[in-house]
Amino acid sequence: MKIISVIVPCFNEEESLGIFYKTTLECISKISNYNFEFVFVDDGSTDNTLAILEELSKKDSRILYFSFSRNFGKESAMYAGLKNASGDFAVFMDADLQDPPSLLPEMINAIENEGYDCVATRRVERKGEPVIRSFFARRFYKLINKISDIEIMDGARDFRLMTRQVVDSILELTEYHRFSKGIFDWIGYKTKWIDYQNLERVAGTTKWSFWKLFKYAIEGIVAFTTMPLKVASFFGMIISLISFISLVFVVVRRLIFGDPVGGWASIVSILLAVSGIQLICVGVMGEYLSKTYMETKRRPLYFIKSTNKKARK
Ligand code: UDP
Ligand code: MG
Repeated sequence: MKIISVIVPCFNEEESLGIFYKTTLECISKISNYNFEFVFVDDGSTDNTLAILEELSKKDSRILYFSFSRNFGKESAMYAGLKNASGDFAVFMDADLQDPPSLLPEMINAIENEGYDCVATRRVERKGEPVIRSFFARRFYKLINKISDIEIMDGARDFRLMTRQVVDSILELTEYHRFSKGIFDWIGYKTKWIDYQNLERVAGTTKWSFWKLFKYAIEGIVAFTTMPLKVASFFGMIISLISFISLVFVVVRRLIFGDPVGGWASIVSILLAVSGIQLICVGVMGEYLSKTYMETKRRPLYFIKSTNKKARK
């Protein structure tokens, strides 16, 4: 029988883990012909998440857990989950039941009978989310789709079922600054999209602050496009052109009319504007440089402090 690995990144999910496990179990018990394996990745939780996982794994031998030495972020947890999943298929699911396990039969069917390699999900609206967060999320998707070669669906979740081939392809991308939503598109393969209504978290609170999301958005842009660098060069060229024209203008005026004094205000404004733009461009370059710097260190994506399985490497 084929095995499906359910990969669940958990960061301080003590309130939702029990109900997640119970609900998912109910769903998968109705799916015959497949065996399931749970791969829980405790992303350095500071609450009772690990204790709950240890408890669950004693009762259910299909449960594997891996506990990080600190919080490495959801991306690292997802990678660790994939690395340690042994299934023929793998699916990512959040611990808060925002990814409904009831969609699993439809997803499995799409891969087995409709010839897809991957089934991804997206929520069609963002009910229950702060308005400002939705606004910036939408702007982000518009922007990254415009300036990069990858295409990310607005509202795309990490909830997706993949074949072993897709899993192995993702594992080959070992970059330090990971942006999975981009990686999923970048690797290719035939993907089916399933829409569903947004569900609110069953318990606990979101682990993503606005600042964390903002940094994640920058990560995505820097990881998948060098367009900001091109914009910086473009600014440079435009300003050089304007400066050259002004220079000719000033010199000609000097030759014809002598040496007029004045224009202090305009000089200061130009100076401030140009140095501002210069700083922004240096900042953009710095962003890429710092990412390159971190990437060259080749640091591991995570450390596993405890597990009930000897981790494969
Ligand atoms: N998560 C994680 N590490 C983090 C942040 C989140 O493993 O640093 C997990 C979290 O436990 C949950 C999933 O990622 O299972 C999605 O997080 P959350 O529900 O807080 O995000 P939201 O649904 O609000 O975008
Ligand atoms: Mg959630």
